Amino acid sequence: MRSFRFRSLASGSAGNATLIEAPCAAQNEPFRVLVDCGLNLRQLRAHLHHDGLDVNDIQAIFVTHEHSDHVGACFDLAARLQIPVWSSYGTWHGAGQPDCAGMWQPAYDGQAILWGDMSATPFTVPHDSREPLQLVITHNQQRLALLTDLGHVTEHVLAHVRGCHAILLEFNHDPDLLQNSRYPAFLKRRISGRLGHLSNAAAAALLREVIHPGLHAVVAGHLSKQNNQVAHVQQWMQQATQGYQVVLSIASQELGSPWVELPSSSVCNSTQVLIEQTIAGILESPLEAIVVTSAVADTEGSPYAT
Ligand SMILES: [Zn+2]
Ligand SMILES: [Zn+2]
Repeated sequence: MRSFRFRSLASGSAGNATLIEAPCAAQNEPFRVLVDCGLNLRQLRAHLHHDGLDVNDIQAIFVTHEHSDHVGACFDLAARLQIPVWSSYGTWHGAGQPDCAGMWQPAYDGQAILWGDMSATPFTVPHDSREPLQLVITHNQQRLALLTDLGHVTEHVLAHVRGCHAILLEFNHDPDLLQNSRYPAFLKRRISGRLGHLSNAAAAALLREVIHPGLHAVVAGHLSKQNNQVAHVQQWMQQATQGYQVVLSIASQELGSPWVELPSSSVCNSTQVLIEQTIAGILESPLEAIVVTSAVADTEGSPYAT
């Protein structure tokens, strides 16, 4: 039986999707949830195929907000597969009130959703969409936080993220690179504003705030291709987690991230037993190389392209 684990399938302004799976006592297969799908169906199938999976292996979908790099194929997919799709009312409205063949379920801040043996709690974040929600997902006392697309960190966010054992965290931009970019002034203001995206420094500050010996893994996500550099993100992540044994990785637009397994609760209760991975190994990962060298998407001018 596989463990509670997750993997970013794609991360960045051209499309985000995260797959979470956990053992489920009521079925032989793990229960699989897709959080966001800013990809088309062909791209999603290709990513799933890489793991020997198909869209039919997904049992539930959650949409964090209506920006195109997140909502993508979510509602169509739910209707096609006849599986439930959750989002806030504001997100559903912002996405054009899709019919979803009756599959849409409203999600609310602080109200838990059950997916097999997982329990997911959405929480409100400050971002320039109608009613954005991010998630903490718990399985067998292991807590995974998914946290991207927020302009600043609130006490409400911290209250949900504290005590997590793994986190997919936005490291969106380097303010200097952003200010010196060719982006129009309004877009620079939007990205760096309180309803925009987290800078590397802001993400690292959050990490320092929530780090504890049980934090097992951090995946940096939603990196801006034009206004960030993998080396900068690595430095910020290392500094923020200094003195702790944490598996660090960076999700790319093209390949996402490797699977991250959350240890069984008995293991994680021991602060001594954590998987070690050297920073040197991370620096040599092909995932980051692809982030650096991949073609830059033509995203300027779009209010949602960051
Ligand atoms: Zn986004
Ligand atoms: Zn967004």
